[in-house]
Amino acid sequence: MTADRPDVTEALAEVADIARPAAADGTVASYIPALAHADPSRFGIALVDLDGTEHAIGDVDVPFPIQSISKVFSLVLAMQKAEAHDGVAEELWSRVGREPSGDPYNSLVQLERERGIPRNPMINAGALVIDDVLFGHCDDAPRATLELLELLAGDRLSVDEDVRRSEVGALHRNRALANLLADFGNLHHAVDDVLDNYVHECAIAMTARQLARAIRFLANDGIDPATGTRILSRELARRVAAIMLTCGTYDAAGEFAFNVGLPCKSGVAGGIVGIVPRHMGLCVWSPPLDRTGNSLAGRVALHELAERLDLSIV
Ligand code: GLN
Repeated sequence: MTADRPDVTEALAEVADIARPAAADGTVASYIPALAHADPSRFGIALVDLDGTEHAIGDVDVPFPIQSISKVFSLVLAMQKAEAHDGVAEELWSRVGREPSGDPYNSLVQLERERGIPRNPMINAGALVIDDVLFGHCDDAPRATLELLELLAGDRLSVDEDVRRSEVGALHRNRALANLLADFGNLHHAVDDVLDNYVHECAIAMTARQLARAIRFLANDGIDPATGTRILSRELARRVAAIMLTCGTYDAAGEFAFNVGLPCKSGVAGGIVGIVPRHMGLCVWSPPLDRTGNSLAGRVALHELAERLDLSIV
């Protein structure tokens, strides 16, 4: 599609009309108590083309916690370290896999069965290992993730402290994952430090518009189109996008490939980012989730958008 196609605005309106009602069948995440206060009627779609043209509908300027969407950006930081230092890529890919999990994002069972090697960096256990790798290479890993996102969004960002504190109080399962990783020798820093970093990045608050801008460099062979800054080599940008396509929506990744056909990454606050290679970055946001932890109206919106604007890469 092209930026100035006259029917994009119309298509967005039609997609919003179809997708919004789907939220009624979903449930806002409540295992992190602060997320339970999210307004289930919030809904927004932002598309940002590589040339900077933006198309948007709904609540695209309202910040929400990015949650698991942060996992893409931690992986990007880790890939940057891998480009800069010999041996990091080998270490990283010996400690975390690249296969879809087919299990929920916070499953303990799979990690035990597979002896402490998480299936991929987009599930919680995998992100904890990535954060552990970053600890070894950044002076201030939480700050580094925030700064990367600020650079890519072109805005100052902040951490939602209520959400961060609330998640710290509800960390049982992630702590169990971190302990299991440590027990298998796949965490090299203190469990509490790695968890602090993880919770910090999950609580970064961004709007759908900012996220659509921030993810665009992956649609542009690793170069941020806003500034011309190379974030990743073309090869590594393609690899991150491949992991989003196969693993970014947890155990619904097959369904997403089938119905949407784009590299995507979701978070439990209801955001889903995606890229259309060589065209745009996009983000949809609607807090009520389906069983797999993906935004229900977001899924519908992405499907309808991909159909109407012919976005699927497959
Ligand atoms: N902070 C959330 C958790 O660890 C992130 C999960 C998600 O967004 N899927 O459970």
